[in-house]
Amino acid sequence: MKKWGSILSLLIVLLLFNSFSIAAKNYSYTTVTIDGKKQSVSTVPVLVDGQAITSDVPPFIYKDYTMVPIRFVAESLGSEVNWNGKSKTVTINDSKKQIVLGINSSYVYINGQKQKLPNGVPSPKLVNTSNANYSRTMIPLRFVSETLGHNVKWDNEKRIAYIEKNKDIDKEIKETEINSIVVDSNSNIKISASSSFKYQATDLTNPSRIVVDIPDTKLNLKDGSKADEDGIVNISVGKAYVDKISASQFSTNPSITRIVINLNENAEYKIVPTNDGKTIEIGFTKLNKVENVKMETINGQEAIVIYNSFKPRTNTLKLSNPNRIVLDLLDSTVDLENQINYNYQLGIIKNVRVSQFSPDSLYKPDDKVVRVVFDIQDGINTSNVKISSDGNKIIIMPDKNSWEGLKYENNGNEKIFFIMAKNETGYTIDYDTFKRVMEINVPRENVNLTSGTINVNDNFVDRIVISDNSGNNKVEIYFKKSIEYAVLSKEVDSEIKIKFSRDTQIEPKERLIVIDPGHGGKDSGAISQNGYYEKNVTISIANKLNERLRELGYNTEMTRYDDTYLGLYERTDIANKINADIFVSIHSNAHNDKSISGLQTLYHPSKEEGDGSSYQLAKMIHEEVLKSTGLKDKRMVERPKLAVLRTSNMPAALIEVGFISNLEDEKLITDSAFQDKVVDGIIKGIERYFAEY
Ligand SMILES: [Zn+2]
Repeated sequence: MKKWGSILSLLIVLLLFNSFSIAAKNYSYTTVTIDGKKQSVSTVPVLVDGQAITSDVPPFIYKDYTMVPIRFVAESLGSEVNWNGKSKTVTINDSKKQIVLGINSSYVYINGQKQKLPNGVPSPKLVNTSNANYSRTMIPLRFVSETLGHNVKWDNEKRIAYIEKNKDIDKEIKETEINSIVVDSNSNIKISASSSFKYQATDLTNPSRIVVDIPDTKLNLKDGSKADEDGIVNISVGKAYVDKISASQFSTNPSITRIVINLNENAEYKIVPTNDGKTIEIGFTKLNKVENVKMETINGQEAIVIYNSFKPRTNTLKLSNPNRIVLDLLDSTVDLENQINYNYQLGIIKNVRVSQFSPDSLYKPDDKVVRVVFDIQDGINTSNVKISSDGNKIIIMPDKNSWEGLKYENNGNEKIFFIMAKNETGYTIDYDTFKRVMEINVPRENVNLTSGTINVNDNFVDRIVISDNSGNNKVEIYFKKSIEYAVLSKEVDSEIKIKFSRDTQIEPKERLIVIDPGHGGKDSGAISQNGYYEKNVTISIANKLNERLRELGYNTEMTRYDDTYLGLYERTDIANKINADIFVSIHSNAHNDKSISGLQTLYHPSKEEGDGSSYQLAKMIHEEVLKSTGLKDKRMVERPKLAVLRTSNMPAALIEVGFISNLEDEKLITDSAFQDKVVDGIIKGIERYFAEY
């Protein structure tokens, strides 16, 4: 105990000594003159957020209150301080408060409201120090600090004043300032701030303008721009895209700077922030405006002309079924009145459609695209249309060379073929029903045809070949199917006019069907759980199908008749060489999941719609086989990359008869009676197809 007692007393002595030493240190005095009276005051340290402040006149205690020089308020608390020597008033401003104090006045104005200083609080004083000739305005520290929202503590033990600054005020002091708006000669606008900022841009029309709102910022342009009486800084630009810019402090709580950019013309813009986020750049892209679409004669040739306000970049797409050429004009707009179907018929073009396109996967969602669609007569190879430009105009001309003197009209299942002669002329027409080729001969002196091949490739005509034939122009039309035709022109006429239609009396013997049993030879195809090979199932069904079709009088060919290996291209080569009407490939499916079963029919999507397409052939076969077999419907699937479907020139379908990997399907498809049902369905589908196309 005794030992403890001596340590404790030592500690007490040390503590006393320590506090006494601080106290002693803080009791320093200075002599000042206040209200003409010289007096000694005790100075005190003032700490702002832990930092001691320094000033030429130190803070001191006067009538129990700490007085500080006004400069302290400005430098340490971050407020703006103005001294008016005439009225002897001090104005203290920060973002939220304004305090006006008068020397020796016990009244104070806070945000314009006059009130009395709290009881005991000394009024501001002009103070002269003993050792200098200057005077300083001293103000009561606690009153001013607390009015500004700072936290003040007085440690009476240590005689130290602590100020904890209002963090909100601090934040507002550091608020981002929008300090420059610059426009270059290309109308690119740069908006810069003292630190990084976020923004929100909105498009408005009538007049066309962009509104950029920048939250948590103050507008404080450093170029000396002055706001008008509405608080708006107007910047007149008068450049290509931008007419003028106005900037204002749209609101102060919360603070939002609003910049409005008035646009001169049709333009698309992009806003890109710089890496440091302190600047945004607004760049403009000129938007073309489609002004008109007209038929015109250019260099003696009829053309469709798209008039633009300036020449746009374009994308051309060739789409089939129905055949059309799509011309996308990028960064372009078109008024509603011009978004119409132009009933322009020019050569192979039968209609022109213009619309403001809603961008799809080809474009970005906010891209401005005008889509011009040229509907092309059935199946005609679109390379026969020439798209060129002249200044701001885009000119569309059906290729003069191959089509000059010819015309081909499509009326569904009826086509009319024209040869326009220079003079009235005689001609000969021969049609080879077996080869399905029509040969027309016209004396050269009466026509102006260019030798070459026109790929038509619609549901009737494969191609037209023009050649010289001893003084005649020979026109050969290669048909894909048996046709009936009627000559509509006179024996001697200035226009040779022939109408074609589907041969309604085609006998089965005029049809040629190629049957393709999947796999073969070293390629077994899928193998069932019980060891059956797909290649044997497919040849078995194919043989039955072939036999039955022949019994019905059809011409058929098989890609393989026995267990031999064939490449995929060899299969379609066989069918293409003999110009088959249809191609039917037979397979059975397989899946790792052995529970999956059913019928699936595959087709190439390019011929999804239109007369007599692969899709229609596949659909009819699929529907009929479902009916005849009762197999589960595993649906039709488009297979754009499958070689036999892609490389066949004629409509083609690939039927996956059941899943050989599934035990129930395996039992069915290896059964001869079931295979007969499959064949029934395929034949019904083929006959339905031939009846319609
Ligand atoms: Zn297969």
